[in-house]
Amino acid sequence: MFFASRKKIKKISEGLEKLVQTGNISGEKDKSRDQISRLEAAFGQVAGRIEQLEKENSQARAILNSMIEGVIALDRESRITSLNPTVEKIFGIDSKRVKGKFFLEAIPNNDLYEIISGVFKKKEAVSRELSLVWPVQRIFQVNATPIFDRQKVSGCTIVVHDITEMRKLETIRSDFVVNVSHELKTPLTSIKGFVETLIEGALEDKENAKHFLQIIQEHTDRLNNLVNDLLDLSYLESKVIQLQRQTFELKGLVDKVLGGFWVQIRKSFLVVNNEIPTGIFLEADQAKIEQVFVNLIDNAVKFNRDNGSIRLYSQEVDGKITVTIEDSGLGIPVKDLPRIFERFYRVDKARSRELGGTGLGLSIVKHIIELHQGTVGVESAEGFGSKFWFILPK
Ligand code: ADP
Repeated sequence: MFFASRKKIKKISEGLEKLVQTGNISGEKDKSRDQISRLEAAFGQVAGRIEQLEKENSQARAILNSMIEGVIALDRESRITSLNPTVEKIFGIDSKRVKGKFFLEAIPNNDLYEIISGVFKKKEAVSRELSLVWPVQRIFQVNATPIFDRQKVSGCTIVVHDITEMRKLETIRSDFVVNVSHELKTPLTSIKGFVETLIEGALEDKENAKHFLQIIQEHTDRLNNLVNDLLDLSYLESKVIQLQRQTFELKGLVDKVLGGFWVQIRKSFLVVNNEIPTGIFLEADQAKIEQVFVNLIDNAVKFNRDNGSIRLYSQEVDGKITVTIEDSGLGIPVKDLPRIFERFYRVDKARSRELGGTGLGLSIVKHIIELHQGTVGVESAEGFGSKFWFILPK
């Protein structure tokens, strides 16, 4: 009986020792020790290894849980073995409910499934960009990799990376380059044409020559405005910008800006009321806030009608100040309102150009106000006028 038990113990301990070795558990086989001690040592090593595996497992879980990429693991039958919270969010699924289910049952997306089938068929990684329409409209970079177990594919991992914002930024950037090139090309073509006409003989025709030179001057002014606005914008967008904060009185600043528009205001017979009370002080970058007023008042003047009006007023609530610039001008169609602060967005391009606009004024305003932790907004009714406002912490 005792002999039989010893035999069993020997077998178990040999089994454990083998496990220790094949499982890469460090430990020396000590032939000199008795069977019980060897068994005890082997148990200790296995327990240590289990603990280590658990630690590694929870570390891997923590990494998976914190990843911004979605990760799905499938077995050889395309059943879901695990997935991380990002996948739950992207596809609106609950990991507890879908674990063990076939991929298509849990995530009914044929494009993704095609990628997975490709991995199982070719036994190699597949990488592809995918546009998802449902449950969210987004663009993903999908990398699917086979899992090998002794040269055989035993499953597949799929990593889904949301690249929607990156693609959007790329589009914005390339649109911007196209817009800038277009804006530069129009005045340059015109300047080139008139200079050529002058060289070819128009210079002798005094009357026309002056007119052509005036047109050239207008276009160079436009180029100048455009380059200045572009420089301002790129400076405001750069991360190095430092606001030069100082305390200044709001009404005084607005009066000063209005003074600069005196000629245009008189020309269009506009009635302008600065209703901002005296004695309101702001702590902000004065030069930049002045630029905000220049751009907003410039628009209120440009897009106004003869005998129209402009009102400026403010309101203080909870340590924040709202400044409104209200005009009785053309107004902005509802469909254009959501895009009005975008670079180069203009309701009527030709009219804006004619009035010397660059289409960058409002995006400069938005940038400056947001740099001050403020917000901008607009209300408008086509044909009745517009109200542009910004809110700044005092
Ligand atoms: P710009 O004035 O140089 O054209 P902005 O960025 O300042 O560019 O304005 C963008 C567009 O928004 C203008 O072209 C115009 O269509 C519209 N807009 C801005 N302010 C007003 C306003 N007060 N009234 C009517 N339309 C406006």
